[in-house]
Amino acid sequence: MTTQKLASSVQGLQSSAIRELLKHSKMPGVISLGGGIPNPELFDHEGLKMAADAVLSTHFGEAFQYGLSEGYPALREAIQQLSADRGIQCAADDVVITSGSQQSLDILARALINPGDTVIVERPTYLAALQVFSLAQANIESVGTDGEGMIVDELEARVANKPVKAVYIVPTFGNPGGVTLSEARRKKLVELSKRYDFVIIEDDPYSEINYTDEVFRPLMAHAKAIGNQDNIVYTSTFSKILSPGTRVGWVIVPEWLKRAVVNLKQTTDLHTSTLSQLMTYEYLKTGRLPGQIAMIRDAYRHKYQLFASELEAELGDVLSFHKPKGGMFLWAKMNNGLNTTRWLEKTLSNGVVYVPGEFFYCNDPDYATLRMSFVTATDDQLKEAVKRLKASL
Ligand code: PMP
Repeated sequence: MTTQKLASSVQGLQSSAIRELLKHSKMPGVISLGGGIPNPELFDHEGLKMAADAVLSTHFGEAFQYGLSEGYPALREAIQQLSADRGIQCAADDVVITSGSQQSLDILARALINPGDTVIVERPTYLAALQVFSLAQANIESVGTDGEGMIVDELEARVANKPVKAVYIVPTFGNPGGVTLSEARRKKLVELSKRYDFVIIEDDPYSEINYTDEVFRPLMAHAKAIGNQDNIVYTSTFSKILSPGTRVGWVIVPEWLKRAVVNLKQTTDLHTSTLSQLMTYEYLKTGRLPGQIAMIRDAYRHKYQLFASELEAELGDVLSFHKPKGGMFLWAKMNNGLNTTRWLEKTLSNGVVYVPGEFFYCNDPDYATLRMSFVTATDDQLKEAVKRLKASL
C-alpha cells in the first residue's frame, strides 16, 4: 500500500538481476560466471599502498576536506593525458570526475532526457544503463548487433524516420555482448549523429582490456575529422583497470553540456570522494598503471582462451558465441532454444551461475541467450563450470 507513496518514476525500478544473482554466487561451492566484477587477486596491492601512503603523508588536509564538483584539478589533467593516449583530444576543463561511469550515465540521463524522449540502445545492452534511462522515463528502443557491433544501417533507418535524443553505446568489448564496433561503423555512427542531430553517449569501461594488437579508437576520437564535436559525450572509469571500490570515473563533455553536468554532480553528491580521487591521482603518478593494465589484459586473455576452448569442446554443439576481442564477457546463445532463465535453477543446483540474457533487453528478449564472465574464476573452476553446465543440460 505504502508503495503508492513512491514517485511513479521509481515504482517500476527493479533491483539489478545481477546483484540478486551475486547473492547465490556467494553460496559455498557455487562457481560464479555471473557478476561483471574484476578479479580482486589482480588488484595492485603494492601500488595502491604506495598511493595511500603518499596521500596520507603529502595531502592529509586536502584528502579529508570537501573538494570541487568538477573534480581534483591534477586528476583531471592526468585524465586528459590518458584520454590523449586513447586518441581523444580534449582540455582538462572538459573532464568532470564522477563516482564511476554509472554516475556519469545517471547525470547524463538527467541532463539530457525529458520524459518520453527516445534513447536508442544496442540489443542487448548494459542492464544498469536500461535502469538509468527508464528512471529518466525515456522511451527506450533498441537496434540489433552482430559480430561488428551495433548495426548502424538499422539505426539509420530508425533515426531518419523519427527524432531521437540520444544513442547509448558501449562500442568496444561491450557488456554483455562482448562485440566491438568496426571502424567503418564508428565513422558512420558519428556522421549520423551529426546529420540527424542526436547525442552519442559513449560508454567505454573496457577498451584497455584488449586481447589483440588492433587499435579501436573511441567514437569521440573521430569527432573532429567528421566535424561533430558537439554531439558526443564520453564516459570511462578506473573500475576495471585499477579498482571499482574507489568509485572514480569521468565524463568528457562538450561546452554546452558542461554547466549542466557540473550542477547535477553538485546536487547529487557535491563531488566524488576526495580521498579516492587523490589516491587515484597518486597511483597514476607512480607510473604503474600501464603495467597493471598489461597484467590484467594477459590474465583475462588467458582465462578467456581457456574458457572458450572448454566451451567449444564440451558444449560446441548446443551453444554458439562471437569471439570477443577483449573485455570481461562471453555472450552465448543456446542453439536448442533453451530458456536460460529457467535453466538457471538447474545449473544453480549443480553449482554454477551465469546471467540469463533476458535482462539485457529493453523489450522482446531472446530467452536463449546468456552472459558468462570468466575473469574471477580460477582455471580449474572454469573447467569445472563447463562440466557442470553440460551436466545440467
Ligand atoms: N558501463 C558499463 C558498460 C559497465 O559494464 C559498467 C560496470 N559494470 C559501468 C558502466 C559502471 O562502471 P563504474 O564502476 O565505473 O560505475
